[in-house]
Amino acid sequence: MRKQELGTLLYFNAGVGNSNVIPGFKVENILYNVPDCWRGNSIKEIFNLDRNANPKHRMLDSGGYQISLAEKNNKRIIYDSTKPILVNDSLNLTPAHVVNTAILIKPTKMTSLDYPIKEASKVNIEMEFRKKIGYNLTWATETSTLVQYAKSLGHLNQNTQLLIPIQCFTLEQLDYIFKYMKDIVYDGVSIPVRNLNLKGIILFLFYFYKMGIKSVHLLGTSSLPVIALSAYLAKHYFKEFSIDSTSWREAAGANIYMGPKDLTNYVLNYNTIVGPYDIIDCLCPFCSRYTFTKIKNMQQTDKFDFLSCHNSWVINNVVKEVADLSSSIDNMISILVNNTKRDNLKKELDNLYILLSLFDSLKDSEVKNFESVVSRNKYDYIRR
Ligand SMILES: [Zn+2]
Repeated sequence: MRKQELGTLLYFNAGVGNSNVIPGFKVENILYNVPDCWRGNSIKEIFNLDRNANPKHRMLDSGGYQISLAEKNNKRIIYDSTKPILVNDSLNLTPAHVVNTAILIKPTKMTSLDYPIKEASKVNIEMEFRKKIGYNLTWATETSTLVQYAKSLGHLNQNTQLLIPIQCFTLEQLDYIFKYMKDIVYDGVSIPVRNLNLKGIILFLFYFYKMGIKSVHLLGTSSLPVIALSAYLAKHYFKEFSIDSTSWREAAGANIYMGPKDLTNYVLNYNTIVGPYDIIDCLCPFCSRYTFTKIKNMQQTDKFDFLSCHNSWVINNVVKEVADLSSSIDNMISILVNNTKRDNLKKELDNLYILLSLFDSLKDSEVKNFESVVSRNKYDYIRR
C-alpha cells in the first residue's frame, strides 16, 4: 500500500534580520527574531529588507535566547510589558512585546517567549530544567492568551501558528511539560536541537507524533542528516515541518564554501591550494562564471557576499531535492550516501536509515517501547 503523504519540509534563512544581509535576489522563507527587530532603527530596516526579499513565509522567533545571554553577561533585565522593548544596554522582553512584534511582521509561524536551557552535564540536567520550566510554562500561557486576543481583534492572521519551544533534555521532562500544557492553546512545538544527537531528535519527534502534534520546527540546524530526517518525517508524519539555520552566513564569514550535494564545508582562504582540475560543480546562479581560484582570491567583503549567496542557495536546494526523494527511506538514503565522499557522513546516514526504519515499524507502539529499542544506555540521546 502506498503510504500517505503529508507535509513538505520548509527551510528558513535565519540571521537575515540582524545582519541586513539578503543572500541573493530571492529568499523563500525568513526567520526573524524579536530583539533583532528593535535595535535602533532596525524595524524600518527589516521592513525594507523584507520588501526586497519578498519571502513566501516569515517565522518570528521570540528571542528568549537573548534573555539567557543577558543573564550570562550581567546585563540589566527588566520585565515590564507597559514599557518599550529594550535590547541594547538593558533587556526588556515580555510576551506582550513578542505578540506586538508579530502584529508588525505578520509571520506564518511564531514562537512563545521562552527561557532556553543551557548545555549541561548529565548530573545537572534536572536542575537546569527545573530552573527554567516555571518561566517557560508561564510565558507559553501568556503568549498564547495574547495571540488569541490579537486574532480575535483581527490584528493577527487567523492562520498564524503559535509554536511552543520545548526546553528540556529528557523524555521524562517531556511528560512533565505536556502534563501542564493541556490548557494552553497552541499549534505545534519548536525544539532547539543543540542538546540532542540524531537519536534524541528522533525520540522527541516520535513523542510529538504520539501526542498528535501536527506542526514542528527544529531550531538552528541544517546538517544533511537532519534535513533528511526532517524531510522524511514531514512527508509521512507531520502536516507542517520546518528547520532554520544561520549556517549559510556563518560559514561565509569563515570563508567556507558549502558542497552543493552534501553541504560539506570547504575552506577557501589564501592558503587553500586549488588544483587546476577543481572545477566548480554547482548549478547555483552565482557560481556559473566562477572558479575556486577566483573565489579564493576575491576581496573579503565580495567573498562574504558571494559565499552567503552560494551557501544559502545550496542549502535551500538540498532541502528541496531531499524532500523530493523522501517518499522512500531506501531511495533517499542510498542517493545521499552516493552523493558524498565523506565516510563519517555516510555512517551517519546509515545510522539514520536504521532510526527511520524503526520509526516506521514501531509507529503504533508506545514511546517507552520505541525508546527501549533505539536507546541502549540511559540518556545516550543527549549530546554530551
Ligand atoms: Zn554555487
